[in-house]
Formats: sequence, structure tokens, C-alpha cells
Amino acid sequence: MRKHFCSKCHLEVPVSGGYCRKCANEYMRKVRKQGKFRHDSSEYKKVRVGKKVIGKHRVVAGVTNPKLYVHHKDHDPGNNDFENLEVLKPTEHYAVHHS
Ligand SMILES: [Zn+2]
Ligand SMILES: [Zn+2]
Repeated sequence: MRKHFCSKCHLEVPVSGGYCRKCANEYMRKVRKQGKFRHDSSEYKKVRVGKKVIGKHRVVAGVTNPKLYVHHKDHDPGNNDFENLEVLKPTEHYAVHHS
């Protein structure tokens, strides 16, 4: 198995392209402090970071790379628990949903 490292502090993490739990929490806190959370009608919670609006699940997973997918392991887009999220490459994500 290939090892993955947090893209911020380089601690070992279970998924590639994301932050470790600590860095994800810090990132989350920073976004929260800015008071830019907004909820819309879709199942995906959205977060405003600067001028960009991104999915909350992406913030929780610490994924800023738009080429990566953040998959909900239980297929519930409302469950943005760190443990429920998996960072996948587009091909891997396709395989999860089309196998
Ligand atoms: Zn980290
Ligand atoms: Zn998915």
C-alpha cells in the first residue's frame, strides 16, 4: 500500500490529496471564523471561502484540488463526517459508483 501524507503538515493520512484530521479541523475553524457558511437547498452544504463557494465535504476532507473527488462512503451527501469522506481520483470515483 502506498503511503499518503497530509498536504499541509506531512503527517501520514489514510487518503491522498487531503489534510490530516488536525489540519482539516484547523482549516474548518478558519472558514467558520470568517462566518461564511451558507446553506442552500441542495443536499450538499456549501461553504464560501473568499470568492469561491465549495462543498463543505471538501473543506472537511481538506481538499482544495478541484481535480480530486471527495466521496461519501455511506453515499449520504449530508454526512460530512471526516470518517465518511474518501478522497478519490476521478477514475477511482467513477469505479466506486459504476461497479
Ligand atoms: Zn496535517
Ligand atoms: Zn461518490
